[in-house]
Amino acid sequence: MPVSLDAPRAARPSLTVLAGPTAVGKGTVSTYVRDHYPQVWLSVSATTRDPRPGEVDGTHYFFVSDEEFDAMARDGQLLEWAVVHNSHRYGTLRSTVERALERGLSVLLEIDLQGARQIRNTMPEANFVFLAPPSWDEMVARLVGRGTETAAEQRVRLETAKLELAAEPEFDHTVINDRVERAAAELVQLMGVDPEPAS
Ligand code: 5GP
Repeated sequence: MPVSLDAPRAARPSLTVLAGPTAVGKGTVSTYVRDHYPQVWLSVSATTRDPRPGEVDGTHYFFVSDEEFDAMARDGQLLEWAVVHNSHRYGTLRSTVERALERGLSVLLEIDLQGARQIRNTMPEANFVFLAPPSWDEMVARLVGRGTETAAEQRVRLETAKLELAAEPEFDHTVINDRVERAAAELVQLMGVDPEPAS
């Protein structure tokens, strides 16, 4: 049925899921969004991995024990969760996301592909954005260059990345992470937020 121009505009989806292959820079883009676009509410996930140097509990992640994560999953406190890179568990806290959505905020989840698929099943009205690298070589260079993983971990992550790149058609939009500022501006624009950074 044709949509009348006079009809009220459908509300923009206020939940956006950002996913993409490992080492594409999802964390960097979402951190940039958190720091420059106060209109966007970035969800803080729970994880069982240890904090890296400089990471703050409650800001970057909620760092929890295996037992605490078990309890969260068992009690239905997680909107989605997954074992990432065959090692640690990561999950989105249901209550904080639901509260932010109730407040009408533009919510951003930066999660892995398995988590994005779970959200697709439970909240298909969400906006799904795939962050893609400018090229495969650049992605490998970033993963090796950041030096936060051992060689064995890097191999596992690159294997995962190949599978993850193939998932792009599942998403509503693709943003190429050629420059963090530009990719962040395009992402927030897709969320209906003014792409001019606050600072
Ligand atoms: P890192 O350990 O480098 O911070 O993150 C590893 C991966 O976990 C990234 O791909 C990131 O998107 C993913 N991740 C972070 N939080 C969540 C979450 O709440 N759920 C899921 N499924 N993946 C997450």
